[in-house]
Amino acid sequence: MADVVIIGAGPAGIFAALELTRHARGLDIVIIEQGKDITERSRAGKDMLIGWGGAGAYSDGKLTISTDVGGQLSSLLNEDELIALLEEVDRIYAGYNSTGGVYSVGGDDADVISAQARLAGLVYIPTKVRHIGTENCYTILKDMRDELSSHVTMVFNTKASSIMEQDGRVTGVELEDGSIVTTRFVIAAPGRIGSSWMSDQAKKLGLVTRPNPVDLGVRVELPAVVLENLTRKAYETKFIYYSKTFDDKVRTFCMNPYGEVVRETLGDILTVNGHSWARKRTDNTNFAILVSADFTEPFDDPIGYGESVAKLANMLGKGVIVQRLGDLQSGRRTNPARLLKCATLPTLKQATPGDLSYCLPYRILSDIMEMLSALDKIAPGVNSAHTLLYGIEVKFYSNRIDLDNGLKTRIEGLYVIGDGAGITRGLMQASCSGIVAARSIVKVMS
Ligand SMILES: Cc1cc2nc3c(=O)[nH]c(=O)nc-3n(C[C@H](O)[C@H](O)[C@H](O)COP(=O)(O)OP(=O)(O)OC[C@H]3O[C@@H](n4cnc5c(N)ncnc54)[C@H](O)[C@@H]3O)c2cc1C
Repeated sequence: MADVVIIGAGPAGIFAALELTRHARGLDIVIIEQGKDITERSRAGKDMLIGWGGAGAYSDGKLTISTDVGGQLSSLLNEDELIALLEEVDRIYAGYNSTGGVYSVGGDDADVISAQARLAGLVYIPTKVRHIGTENCYTILKDMRDELSSHVTMVFNTKASSIMEQDGRVTGVELEDGSIVTTRFVIAAPGRIGSSWMSDQAKKLGLVTRPNPVDLGVRVELPAVVLENLTRKAYETKFIYYSKTFDDKVRTFCMNPYGEVVRETLGDILTVNGHSWARKRTDNTNFAILVSADFTEPFDDPIGYGESVAKLANMLGKGVIVQRLGDLQSGRRTNPARLLKCATLPTLKQATPGDLSYCLPYRILSDIMEMLSALDKIAPGVNSAHTLLYGIEVKFYSNRIDLDNGLKTRIEGLYVIGDGAGITRGLMQASCSGIVAARSIVKVMS
C-alpha cells in the first residue's frame, strides 16, 4: 500500500516526488522505474533513456526558461503561473549545482539578430537558457536521488504493467511480476520511451487522447566558428522558417555549441541526437532541423510514419547515415573516401557515409535544404559543402492526453505528466508538470 505511486523516475516523476516530500511530509510514496538506478546506468543502448533520471540523465542539460519552448503547458496554465513555475524549477536545479551559465539575449543584440533573421526570411525566437551540461545534469539528478532516498521507496528494474481503476477512481498499480501496489493517487510519468505503454493504458482506461505531430529531420554539424557569433550570446538560437515550396514550418532545435552528435536507440530504431559537455569541447557545433508532419483523416499514426522513415535510414545505412551537404546538393552519395576529404570532422564515428535523399521524403528534404540556405545568410558557412547532415533525427511525441489544469485525467486520482502525457518536450516543462501534479494531490488531500 502507498499514498502515492509515481510511475517513471525521469525529471517529471522526480520533481513530483520532491514537491510531495517537501510539502506533505510523512506520505508513503513509491517510485516504480523500469530501468536501473542512476549509478548503474550507462550511455549505451536503451540504458541511455531509461533508469533514474530518465532521458534527462544524459541530456545536454539545457534549461530553457520559456513558455513557448519545450512543451504545451501554456495551453493548461496561465502565462504568469507558468513563468513563475519555470523560474522556480530553474532555482531548484541551480540550487543543486549553479555552475551553468545563463544565456539570455536582450536589448540591442536581440533586435540585431531579429532584423538579420527577417532579412534572411527567418523568424528569431529569443530564449533564456541555463546550460548545465551533460555531466552536471547527471550529478544533479543523482543528488536528487540521494535526497529522496530516505523519504521515498524506490523500486528499480520493475515495469508498471497496468494502472488499475474502479468506478472512475484509481485503485492501484500492477507490476510486471503480478504484484499490486494499492493506492489512491497515481502519477504516471513514463516519458517518450513509455509512450506506447501510456497509449495502451489510456485506451484501456477510456481516456481521451489526440495524436501529436511527429518531427522529422536531420542533425546538422559544422565547425563551431560558423555559429560562434550567435552561440556566444545566446547559446541556443532558435529560428523558424516557412518553406517556399511547401509553406511548411521548419525549425532549428537543440543547438549544442562545441558539442557532439550521438546515436539514440528508440526501441529497435537508431536515430540521432546531440549534446555538449560543460567541461569538454569539440571543434564543432550541432543542431537539428526539424519539420512537423501532421496528418489528417484517415491517417492517425504519425509515430508509425516517423518510425518507418527512420527504419528506412537504418535499413540503408545499417544504422545512422552521415552525408556531406555538398554531396547531397550534387545528387551523389557520400562514401568513406569523400568523407575523409570533408573539412568538418564528424564527432559521431558510428555513422555510415550514405545518401539521405534515399530515405527522407522529398517534402522534408526540400524544406531542410531551403532552411540551410536561409540560415547561411545569417551565419555564412552553414550551407557549405563541408556541412555534415546525420539522419534521421525524429521526435516522437506521445499522444496528448486530455487533462485538467492540475494535470488530472477524468479518472479520480490519476495524473499523467511529462513527455509521456504528450504535453511536454523538455527538462523544464517536464519538471514543472511534476510540481503541478504534486500540488494538485496535496490540495485534494488537505
Ligand atoms: C540526448 C538527449 C538530449 C536532451 N537534451 C535536452 C536538453 O538539453 N534540454 C531539455 O530541455 N531537454 C532535453 N532532452 C529531453 C529531456 O531529456 C526530456 O524532455 C525529459 O527527460 C522528459 O522527462 P520525463 O520525466 O517526462 O520523461 P523521461 O525522462 O523519458 O523519463 C521517463 C521514465 O519513465 C520510465 N518508465 C516508462 N514507462 C514505465 C513503466 N511502465 N514502468 C516503470 N517505468 C517506466 C522510463 O524508464 C524513464 O526512466 C534531451 C533528451 C535526450 C534523449
